Amino acid sequence: MASSAGPEIERLIALLGKLPGLGPRSARRAALALLKKRDQLLTPLSDALADAAAKVRACSQCGALDTSEPCAICADRSRDQSLICVVEEVGGLWAMERASAFRGRYHVLGGLLSALDGVGPGSLRIDELIGRANGGEVREVILALPATVDGQTTAHYLADRLAPSGVSVTMLARGVPVGGELDWLDDGTIAQALRARRPA
Ligand SMILES: [Zn+2]
Repeated sequence: MASSAGPEIERLIALLGKLPGLGPRSARRAALALLKKRDQLLTPLSDALADAAAKVRACSQCGALDTSEPCAICADRSRDQSLICVVEEVGGLWAMERASAFRGRYHVLGGLLSALDGVGPGSLRIDELIGRANGGEVREVILALPATVDGQTTAHYLADRLAPSGVSVTMLARGVPVGGELDWLDDGTIAQALRARRPA
């Protein structure tokens, strides 16, 4: 895109444009906002980025991002050591933590199996999960994976691989979202919710 901005600004815009959810147009707006608010935005953001780049690492046990090794969740002995919740990416872990409904530990796979994208078991942190499940402390592995073809393929593969360890393998229920109107739900969700019905 032709522009009268200098190379430094163009580089900033190009990098911002690689962020999820930011197209070229919003990247330009973001760059402009940063440059106009040097003290409130640009400098603190630049410091925060440098800090994160220097200190944040993936936890060797669960794969979560943290500044400590192991991460704060793995190190917290008050959490239930017998429960592992498997998520695709760190974003799923953060979502579970926001819900404050789970007090076990996590395992971040780093993706999903996908024949189409050429992602096989060796590219994901699956052996590490099997190792943890065989460690003796774990009683249940909860698969919190997306309700997509890849998500379900991965869940079935993990259930097969985990079977010899003897731990119980469960999946999140699919159904009517909290506050959801039946009218607005797609057929697949309604059919799943009906299959997963429970005593009232
Ligand atoms: Zn961890």
